[in-house]
Amino acid sequence: MAVRRGTASRLEEVADGVFAHEQPDGGWCLSNAGVVVSDGEAVVVDTAATEERARRFRDAVASVASAAPRVVVNTHFHGDHTFGNSVFQPEAVVVAHEAARTEAGVADLGMCGLWPDVTWGDLRVALPQVTYRDRATVHAGGVPLELIHPGPAHTTTDTLVWVPDRSVLFAGDVVLNGATPFCLMGSVSGSLRTLELIRALEPAVIVPGHGPVGGPELLDATEAYFRWLRDLARDGVDAGLTPLELARETDLGAFAELLDAERLVGNLHRAYAEQRGAPEGTPLDVLAVFLEMVEHHGGPLPCRA
Ligand SMILES: [Zn+2]
Repeated sequence: MAVRRGTASRLEEVADGVFAHEQPDGGWCLSNAGVVVSDGEAVVVDTAATEERARRFRDAVASVASAAPRVVVNTHFHGDHTFGNSVFQPEAVVVAHEAARTEAGVADLGMCGLWPDVTWGDLRVALPQVTYRDRATVHAGGVPLELIHPGPAHTTTDTLVWVPDRSVLFAGDVVLNGATPFCLMGSVSGSLRTLELIRALEPAVIVPGHGPVGGPELLDATEAYFRWLRDLARDGVDAGLTPLELARETDLGAFAELLDAERLVGNLHRAYAEQRGAPEGTPLDVLAVFLEMVEHHGGPLPCRA
């Protein structure tokens, strides 16, 4: 099946031996991935949502790596970053934060049900075989990739993949470019803290979870959204509005240009919970909130995967 025009993926070398696999336009399920190649070895960061897209990514990796990758790192458990894991097996072992393994097992292929019209292909969830808790390092030949768990941010399972020798950060969905940030399953305050953590690394190149590759300016844009969100939620709680009611009467201003604006409803649910004293990452009723996002959008959410 052909990939629709405008969403064809591309592999871009962003630093010596470091490649970003971008899937325009970066909306729902059109996630980025990457590969680090050195000394004949390759480490892959994330896969893709559908079997076809994962196979295309694997083919792109094969065009720059002389051997099949032996390690796949997942930045978090969401299916658009992990459903393609099995395409890289049996050669590769999958590595992720310990909570990502747990959450991926619980979620299974449930995400496919949110978008029944997508051609998902022959998918099976390949759970991480190696997990870590705080930090770990994997090696692509002589190039180390530092895995950093920042605490709750996009989810409670996030891994930042930092390649210090190349000054490249694979941010997962903690940082998006051109799409609305999304912390329903993570934390607003944790996201802001994680952005500071990333800033301290001083990355020259940031591969966001969705959208075009950029630099530190992506941190500024993401921080601005979360600070705005936090203030908005504070006012909404004071006014006695539900997240959905507040979203309906909110002028997005500069953020109106971002894809998937309905995420505001989910982000407000998370911000409300924190405003009311809930610990970061406290589980919320994700499916119920997702249905509110659909209602706010005025119909099924667009997914072009
Ligand atoms: Zn995600």
